[in-house]
Amino acid sequence: MKLTLKQFFAYHYFPHCVIFFTHICKLWLAWHDIFNDPIHGTIKMHPLLVKIIDTPQFQRLRHIKQLSFGYWVYPGACHNRFEHSLGVCHLAGELAKTLRESQPELNITKEDILCVQIAGLCHDLGHGPFSHLYDDLLKEHETRSVKMFEHLVEDTENKLKPVMEEHDLKEDDRKFISELIQGLDENSNGSRGPGKKFLYDIVANSRNGVDVDKWDYLARDCYYLGVQNNFDYRRFLRFARVCSVDGEMQICTRDKEAQNLYDMFATRKSLHCKAFQHRVVNVIKIMVIDALKKADDFVEIAGSGGKKFSITKAISDMEAYTKLTDHIFEQILYSSKEELKDSKEILMKIVKHQHYKFVGQIFLETEKKPLAVAIGYGKKKKNLINGFNFYSKDDPKKAKRIELDQVNEFLKTPKCHIKCLNAALGFLMNSKHTETTDNPPNLS
Ligand SMILES: [Zn+2]
Repeated sequence: MKLTLKQFFAYHYFPHCVIFFTHICKLWLAWHDIFNDPIHGTIKMHPLLVKIIDTPQFQRLRHIKQLSFGYWVYPGACHNRFEHSLGVCHLAGELAKTLRESQPELNITKEDILCVQIAGLCHDLGHGPFSHLYDDLLKEHETRSVKMFEHLVEDTENKLKPVMEEHDLKEDDRKFISELIQGLDENSNGSRGPGKKFLYDIVANSRNGVDVDKWDYLARDCYYLGVQNNFDYRRFLRFARVCSVDGEMQICTRDKEAQNLYDMFATRKSLHCKAFQHRVVNVIKIMVIDALKKADDFVEIAGSGGKKFSITKAISDMEAYTKLTDHIFEQILYSSKEELKDSKEILMKIVKHQHYKFVGQIFLETEKKPLAVAIGYGKKKKNLINGFNFYSKDDPKKAKRIELDQVNEFLKTPKCHIKCLNAALGFLMNSKHTETTDNPPNLS
């Protein structure tokens, strides 16, 4: 049989090519660990990220429920900060890589991408027991996340520093990661300079709140709560583009995606109304705060140098704080310590569904409207969507604003008011209520 040159190469070399590429694929998979996630599918993780994941400081997140007491109301909401952090890391990498591919002129380096991924992975390291409950007692968790990240890197048992150097991450990259976790001050350009200010939009966007942290928790919380999520973050990823807005490099999206962006804020609002601010969730939160306050002087958590710390003081020592998770609930509930009797009683009431029926009282002036909390599309009175910019197909370099009524007439009145009772609970929690009782006046 006579073969042409092309057929000769195909016959002799094709099988070798297949074997060669199979080996390359196997090497790639061996080099990158694969995580299976119900939200994003298979997630590939860089070896440095895996090294961070396999530390006690990160593994701790397996024991902090994403929606804390939401699990006591919605039985499906059993997910933890651990899987959320993996998801944020994955989306942060995807967004940075998409921008690098579509706009090579931005000079996004492989170190930039790795830093953004690490920030995504570590952004919630500082969460205390029951997620936001500890925030009500102490300061912002982002500051604690930076402290915990520094502790994780400095802990010699983790042997992380040589691996970071191996992947060309230096001191200034560590500083950059801390800035990414904490979010940038309005007038700062960050350590990467004004040309790369858009990188700070990815994990903790302090300007308009559109970031991958939100994308992951909206998708994940909806999935586990069984609530509809109308926001399509995959489309947002595809249409993301960096434009100069008044001389500042910002991540924008296509004008036709405005409705999708509104759906993001609408889903957030819906989750607040249905789950995050649920009346029972807030009542349980108040009960647990009472139990922790009563237990504070009698629980000892071992920290650095063998020192012992109380629940509220553990934050001052990262070694002690690493050991403080949602487990504190069972630790108190099943303790044989006589001093924890009162705390145990409160927690046992939660277990038996005997919630407080009266948590305090507020006297309203008669001329004022009934107490209610308005939940809108942004932080407090600031409508965050108005801080977002779009580009058009005809002029992708030029950023523009889109007003509310240009998207949907219905969106002009975006606020919902949650019930007075629930609002009062929120008010009491923020205003340090002094007295609680489960022997209420008739308030139904
Ligand atoms: Zn988060």
